[in-house]
Amino acid sequence: MSIVENLHQIKNELPENVTLVAVSKTKPAEDVQKLFEAGQLEFGENKVQELVSKYEVLSKEIRWHLIGHLQKNKVKYIAEFVHLIHSVDNLDLLKEINKQAAKNNRIINCLLQIKIADEDSKFGMDAKNAEVILSDYKEQFPSVKITGFMGMATFTEDENQIREEFKSLKTIFEEYKIQNTELTTLSMGMSGDYKIAIEEGSNMVRVGSSIFGER
Ligand SMILES: *Cc1c(COP(=O)(O)O)cnc(C)c1O
Repeated sequence: MSIVENLHQIKNELPENVTLVAVSKTKPAEDVQKLFEAGQLEFGENKVQELVSKYEVLSKEIRWHLIGHLQKNKVKYIAEFVHLIHSVDNLDLLKEINKQAAKNNRIINCLLQIKIADEDSKFGMDAKNAEVILSDYKEQFPSVKITGFMGMATFTEDENQIREEFKSLKTIFEEYKIQNTELTTLSMGMSGDYKIAIEEGSNMVRVGSSIFGER
C-alpha cells in the first residue's frame, strides 16, 4: 500500500477525539508533502535539524511536533514555528523554551514527558516532579503553556505491561486535569501500541512506521 493509503486506513480507525501525528523522521520531505496533500496537517520529528529542514521546504500550514529528546541549546531553532513540544522532561528546558518563546512573541505549547516505562533508556520525569512544575510554572514562565502529558511504554511483547503503563499515565492525567483545565492532551501510542494506548485513554498518537514504512 502507498503511504497515503496507510494514512487513510489508520485515520479511518481512529476515534474522532484522537489526533494523529504522522512521524516523518528519516523520511524525505516529498513523503510529507504527499500526506499533506491528502489532508494530514500534524507531523512529528525527533531531531531539531531534520525538523527545521523540512519546515523550510514545506507548507507553513503544517503543524510540526517535536517528539524526541530536546537539548536546551537547540530550542532557539524551532521556537519560531513549533506547534507542540512533547518531550519536556526538566525545568531547565522549560525555562529555555519560555525564553525563546518570549523572544518570538509566542506562547509555545508543551507536554511534560512522564516516565512510565520500566527501562533506563526512556527519558521523562516522574509524576511528582510534574506536579511541582505544574503548581507554579505560570508566573515564572508566562510564554509556555503546558497542555498535557506524553509517555512511552516499555518496548516489550507483553501487552499487559504496556496497558498498565498507559493506564498509569491516564490516571495521573485525570487527577491533574481536575485542578488544571489547560491539560487537554494525552500523547501516548506509537505504531506498535497505539491501539492499546487509545483503549487506555490516549487522545494523541504518534505513528511513524505504520504510515511511512520501516525506517
Ligand atoms: C519514532 C517515534 C515515534 C514513532 O514510532 P513508530 O514506531 O515508527 O510509529 C513515536 N514517538 C517517538 C517519541 C518517536 O521517537
